[in-house]
Amino acid sequence: MEEAQRLQSIQPIVFRQLQNSFEHGRLAHAYLFEGDQGTGKAELALWFAKHMFCLNLQNEMPCEKCNNCLRITSKDHPDVVEIEPDGQSIKVDQIRALQSELAKSGFESAKKVVIIHQAEKMNSNSANSLLKFLEEPPANFMIILETQSLGKILPTIRSRCQTIHFQALSTERLQSRLESEQIPAKTAKLLANLTNSYGKAVEISKDEWFNESRDVVIQWFNYLEKNDPQAFIYVQKKLVKTFKDKTQQQFAFEMLAYFVKEKRNQVMKQNQTALKTYNYLLEEVLSASRKLEANVSFQNIAEQITLRIVFA
Ligand SMILES: [Zn+2]
Repeated sequence: MEEAQRLQSIQPIVFRQLQNSFEHGRLAHAYLFEGDQGTGKAELALWFAKHMFCLNLQNEMPCEKCNNCLRITSKDHPDVVEIEPDGQSIKVDQIRALQSELAKSGFESAKKVVIIHQAEKMNSNSANSLLKFLEEPPANFMIILETQSLGKILPTIRSRCQTIHFQALSTERLQSRLESEQIPAKTAKLLANLTNSYGKAVEISKDEWFNESRDVVIQWFNYLEKNDPQAFIYVQKKLVKTFKDKTQQQFAFEMLAYFVKEKRNQVMKQNQTALKTYNYLLEEVLSASRKLEANVSFQNIAEQITLRIVFA
C-alpha cells in the first residue's frame, strides 16, 4: 500500500478519480493523461495497469506483490505494452505493429493495456492509424495516452479519450523531487518557489545564466540588508547588465522576493524591528514587479528600491 500512498500524495485528485472509476466499474477504453513533466503520469499509468492485472486486489487496490504487479513494475508484462517516440516522433509503423499484435491475441480473452508516452509526438499518419483503432476498440483493451502538450493532440483523438488533468506539484513535493535529481536543497527550494513546473525547474537549474543571476541578486540583497550605499552602484554596474529583457527582470524581482521572504521568516520570531524592515522591503519588491509590467524601466525601479531601503 506504500505505492498507493505515494501516488496519492503526488496526485490526490487524479488518484481519487481513478480509484472511484475502478470501484464503480466505470472504466473508459481510452484515457488521455495530460500534465507537466514530473507530475506522475507514467507512474499512475502503470498503477492503472496493475489494477487490471493484479491477482490479489486489496481494498480495490493493486497488491504490488503478486507476479503480475511485479512484472508490470519491472516493465516485463507481455500484456502491458508501452510505446515511446522512436527518435523525434512516434511512427506509423509503431502503431501498426501494435495493431497486428493485438489482432493476433484478439480472439483470446486476454486483457491488454497500451501506454503511449509523449503522445503529442505521433505524426499525422500514426495519429490517424491510432484513430481507426479508437473508433472500434477491441474488447478488454485499454489505452492510456500521455502528454505534456494537450494542444498538440488531434481533436478527433481527444474526443475519444477521457482526459485526466494532472495538477502541477505542490512547492514541497516539487522541491523534494528536484532534490532526488541531485539538485542541492537550497537551489531546489528556490526553484520550487519560482515555478511549479518540474520540467521548467530542471531546465532553469541547467542554465548557467541562472546561477550567475542568482548570485547577483543575492549580492544586491546583501547590500540592501546592510544599508550599504554600494547597492546603488551595483544596480548600474551589475544588475542592469545581468537582467536584460523584461522576463529576466521579472525573474530578478521574483528571486529577490523569495530571499526577502526567507530572511523574514528567519527573523520573524526573534526580532520585531528587523521584521518591519523585511516586510517593508518585500512590499517594495512586490510593487516592483507591477511597475515593470507597467513599463517603468528596470534600472529606475531597482534604484528606487535601493534609495528607499539604503538611504531611508
Ligand atoms: Zn498484485
